This record gives sequence, structure tokens and C-alpha cells, in this order.
Amino acid sequence: MNPIISLEDVQRSYGDPPVLACAGVTLQITPGELVAIVGPSGSGKSTLLNLIGSLDRPTAGIARIDGLDVNDLDDRSLSALRAHRIGFVFQQFHLAEGVTAVDNVADGLLYVGIPRGDRRRRAVAALERVGLGHRLDHRPNQLSGGERQRVAIARAVVGDPPLLLADEPTGNLDTASGTAIVDLLHELNRQGTTVVVITHDVGLAAQLPRRIAIRDGRIVGDSVGEEAVA
Ligand code: ADP
Repeated sequence: MNPIISLEDVQRSYGDPPVLACAGVTLQITPGELVAIVGPSGSGKSTLLNLIGSLDRPTAGIARIDGLDVNDLDDRSLSALRAHRIGFVFQQFHLAEGVTAVDNVADGLLYVGIPRGDRRRRAVAALERVGLGHRLDHRPNQLSGGERQRVAIARAVVGDPPLLLADEPTGNLDTASGTAIVDLLHELNRQGTTVVVITHDVGLAAQLPRRIAIRDGRIVGDSVGEEAVA
């Protein structure tokens, strides 16, 4: 199967003199995988997330998403690629306050060009998919942290992107809510979505079938199965 993400000796440097936040990463992620990218603060996780999510371009090496070299795409094409192919979930949920769950989720379809009535119908279906069919008209301040993150996940998957990128998705949650979110990510993966979770949390990473460990902008471990994280 062709990889959904392919990085070939990718580097990203910042500043002058340059700091190599990503110092030559080669990795492939295949459709259907559920992967953790795990490393301590400052190891280059955000930099890698931005490269995998086509929010940023490499300063050297080749980053391909769905076989497309991001350096061959202009900003507009990259935005379109993101809108159709990638759902993003963040630690801070990033929901609009004062807006109902269903409208927050429907907004996830604004850039995909879907008529308004269809947006609402699909938002309801996405909320049902994450177990929030009974919270459609609740606003973020009427929801628990775990429920807010479910709304954010529904918004990320409402357009059925093949790839879901989650940045510390349990970082703001208590243990029970965090576990439920990890279960939901497993469920979405079983339904066919490729999922990449960025985290500093070794315990979270250990619950996922593949763990890519990074330090100082480099991969220091890539393990599948039950082994401990490198
Ligand atoms: P993590 O997400 O694992 O905490 P980051 O990717 O944010 O790591 O950062 C990796 C390294 O790159 C750090 O040393 C950080 O200081 C540096 N870095 C990240 N972004 C920038 C930036 N915009 N300008 C300068 N240095 C940066």
C-alpha cells in the first residue's frame, strides 16, 4: 500500500544560526495505522506535527502527503489538501464558545464546500459517531472536558478525512476522560481512519500499536507491538 505520509530525510531549521528542530527524519505511515509520536518537551514533536500536517514545509528533504510533495504545492493547494485529507485535534479543543456542539462541528465543513443543510446533517452524524448524539445543542461551557474533546474530534472527522492528527489530545483531561478519548481514537481507527497522536505521555503512547520515539529532532525508536517505548 502507498504511504499516506512519507518523510525522506526531512529537516526543519529555525533562526540564525540555524537550530535544527527536525534534524533528518525518515518515516512512512501507511493507511490504517494508529501511531504515537512520543518525545519529551523540546524534542521536536510540534515541528514534526506541522510537517506531517502540511502546516509547514521542510527546509531540506522531501515530505509527501498522499504521494504529493508539499514543496510542489502552493499555499492554496496545501490548504485544500489539508481541508480534504487531514483532521486536526488539539490539547486545548479550540471550540467556539457560545456556539452549539452541532454548529461547532458543522464549521469543520466550511472549507470543503458542502451546502449548509448537508453540513448540519453530517455534523449530527459525526456527533453521534463520537457518542454525543444527546448533546447536539449544548455549548462548550455546558460540556465536560472529555465531551468538549469529543466535539473537537467530531469536527475533525466530519469531512471523513483519511488522516487524523491529534496533538496531546488527552493533555487537558482527567485519567478516565483521557482513557475514553484513547478508546474513541482506536474506534475511529478500526473504522478506517489513519490516526497519528503526538504526545509526551509514554503511558498514552504505550496504548497505541506503533510508537515512534523522537529526541533532539531525530527518531530514536520505532516499535510495533508490545515492546516498551525506546
Ligand atoms: P516539542 O513540541 O517536542 O516541545 P518543538 O518542535 O516545539 O518541540 O521544538 C523543537 C526545538 O526547536 C526546540 O529546541 C525549540 O526551541 C525549537 N523551535 C521550535 N520552534 C521554533 C521557532 N519558531 N523558532 C526557533 N526555534 C524553534
